[in-house]
Amino acid sequence: MSLTATFLGTAGSIPTPKRSLPAILIQRENEQIMFDCGEGVQRQMIKAKTGFHKKMKIFITHMHGDHVLGLPGLLQTMTLLDRKRKLEIYGPAGITGFLECIRETVQFVLTFPIEIFEIKKPGVVCDEKEYIVEAAWANHVIPSFAYVFTEKIRPGYFYPEKAKKLGIPEGPLWSRLQHGQEVTLPNGKVVKPEEVLGKPRLGRKIVYTGDTSSVENLGKFGADADLLIYDSTLDDSLADKAEEDGHSTPSQAARAAKKIGAKVLVLTHISARYTENDLLLRQAQKIFKNTVVAEDFMKIEIPFPKD
Ligand SMILES: [Zn+2]
Ligand SMILES: [Zn+2]
Repeated sequence: MSLTATFLGTAGSIPTPKRSLPAILIQRENEQIMFDCGEGVQRQMIKAKTGFHKKMKIFITHMHGDHVLGLPGLLQTMTLLDRKRKLEIYGPAGITGFLECIRETVQFVLTFPIEIFEIKKPGVVCDEKEYIVEAAWANHVIPSFAYVFTEKIRPGYFYPEKAKKLGIPEGPLWSRLQHGQEVTLPNGKVVKPEEVLGKPRLGRKIVYTGDTSSVENLGKFGADADLLIYDSTLDDSLADKAEEDGHSTPSQAARAAKKIGAKVLVLTHISARYTENDLLLRQAQKIFKNTVVAEDFMKIEIPFPKD
């Protein structure tokens, strides 16, 4: 099951010739999960060839324009392309009013249903069969969430030889054991899944901070993230300004990555004042080697953790 993160927009606050406004698209097989929805996102999606008809959920971190103003244009483009599938939108207080206002004032009728989830408090905000998305408070100048996407633990590998040895007939009983369920054989004997399966396998975890100065509680649920995507608006020499504006610097991001045991750190929400990545990268890599500075259309594949 492939899992990739495509950076559709990596600028902070204002776009630049190279960087569009914040939007990160997680693609898991045929499903898409978008974190933030900066202006012009649909054009970035066209360039990245992501399609507009797939199963999709959008998670907005906060109501600052650079993170949310892409929604009206995206909804309009999806309508013009005759999308039919429901779109789920999650966000903080104000997201419902914003979307209602767009629907009332910008005259277009959606061709597809949207379901809006206004998040009131941190915790699990989306619980699907194979993954969950949790929200935690970030530390910004207005209420802002960080999000964690985590795949659920999967049953371990199935060993057919063990099943045969236990006299389990091939067929539906094998399938139930593979799904982690206990079965009763025709002779009345009960077989537990752990008798024929290997160790349960961990899923993958992606943490996105959105706009934030240091996030205190990231460690609790961000531990061992396969991919940590962190606000890195300003470089270390402007740490005071970053703090004042509710943003972070590369070394703050790197310290967080180290603390939670992240595998890869991506710096994003890059201020327009930086036309090159070197400075930001150097500052972060002094503390956390496995760092990259996000660029528009950068794609990162996230493999399953090794057992
Ligand atoms: Zn921002
Ligand atoms: Zn902001």
